[in-house]
This record gives sequence, C-alpha cells and structure tokens, in this order.
Amino acid sequence: MNKTAVKSLQRILRDAGTYSGKIDGLRGPLTNKAVNGMIEARRDGFPDAVEGWSARRRAVACLQRGALDRDIEAGPVDGLWGPQTDFAADSLATLFETGEPPPAWRDEPVVDVNPNGWPREAALIEAFGSPCEANLVRVPCPWTLSLAWDLRTTCDHIGCHERVAESLRRVLERVYAHYGEERLRELRLNRYGGCYNCRRKRGGSSWSTHAWGVAIDWDPDQNKLRWGRDRARLARPEYDPWWRFWEEEGWVSLGRARNFDWMHVQAAKP
Ligand SMILES: [Zn+2]
Repeated sequence: MNKTAVKSLQRILRDAGTYSGKIDGLRGPLTNKAVNGMIEARRDGFPDAVEGWSARRRAVACLQRGALDRDIEAGPVDGLWGPQTDFAADSLATLFETGEPPPAWRDEPVVDVNPNGWPREAALIEAFGSPCEANLVRVPCPWTLSLAWDLRTTCDHIGCHERVAESLRRVLERVYAHYGEERLRELRLNRYGGCYNCRRKRGGSSWSTHAWGVAIDWDPDQNKLRWGRDRARLARPEYDPWWRFWEEEGWVSLGRARNFDWMHVQAAKP
C-alpha cells in the first residue's frame, strides 16, 4: 500500500472510531491495531478467513470495506490488491481530498466533436493566417483572472484570435455558470497562463498554436509541460466538467488527448 492509500485507510479507521493517531500514511503499530479493531467491530463486513490473514492483508481488507461503505466499487473484501482495489484506492483519495464522491470520470469518454470546424494543426496557416499576425480581440472573462506568474496582476479578458472569440466566450460563460467565482478560485482556474504568444513550440521547432492566439494555458505551476495525469492537477475528476465545456466547442486538451501539457487547451486538432 502506498502512502496515499494508507492515509485513506487511516481516515477510514478514524471514521470507524478505532484510530486517533496521525493521518501520516505510515502503517505502524497504531494503524495495525486500529485495523484489528475495525475488523472486530465490523465482523459481519469481512469474510471468516480474515482471522488468518497477515497484517497487510487485513489492512487492505479494511480499505476495501471502507470503499464499499462509501459506495465505491471495490470488488470482494479479500485483502488482495488488484486493479479494482487500485481504482477504489484512487477514488477514496479523491473523496477524502475533495469531500465529494468521485464521478465516473474514467468511463466518460473525451468529447470528440468539432462544431466550429477547428483545423488540424498542420492546416493552421490556411485556417487562421500567418503565425504572429493574428487579429486579436478581447473576450471578457466572467471571473477575475490573475497572471499565473504574477498573481497580484489581475485581468478581466483574454486576447485571442478573432475566429475563436465567440466560441471562447461561450466556454467561459458555461464554466462560470457551472463553478462560480469562489470554486474557480479554489480550483486555481483563475490562474491564467496566457493565450497569444508569438513563439515556437517548447521542445519543438514548429510554431506553437499560441502564435495564432488560439490556445490558452491554465495554472501552469500545477500542470507542467511534462507532467502526466498522475501529477497534473487539471487531470483530476473535479475538472471533468471544465474540460467537457471546452470539448463540446471542439477545443482540445493536450492533457486529455495526449497526457502531457495539461495546462494547455487549443482550438485546433493535434
Ligand atoms: Zn500552451
């Protein structure tokens, strides 16, 4: 069991009333004792064979029991760590971290529609003109943005290519209606990483979609270029609606499509 899983286990044990130690992710004697306490108190929630299991297996069983009690599908309480338990542990971590039951986000496919006819990256010049020569327009942002690299500097609009402006306006309005100002700040979606930027791709030689003003970066500090979904904040389930609003307008999250550069969303198909 990794540290995150043990933390979830400790929270389960605390809720069960058998653990009052630290939530430190370390399975020491106190935690093991609490595991035995929970099994004793909830004897009908465990199979008979639990008596003969090792301390580790009993701990995993308590994690499974705790997941089931919270309506998280964890399979049988067998104390064995398979893919289903792995998934349940992941969901538990989300539940404890956000206080909300995790939605079935892994079942939800990336929305792959293109109602605005966004071009492929290879056809950007034909579609949007030369890089670094975009006709930029200001789209008001319904919530207050702060520059990610200088949070004291706020801004109330995004400057983007005129061709994507109407679509961007719709996305921002839907996002705002769904989350609201306070939640957007909590989710760090007020941390604006920029749109238009006359530059080439980082780690590449071709022009960045930012050079046309058809890409936007969000919360770059917590969604670094090379990070995958295991680290990137924007990969978490609470951002699922956020991405859906973009994807319904045909915008592409490189994170969702390619599992890197989770900060980045663009009006072009990669
Ligand atoms: Zn970007």
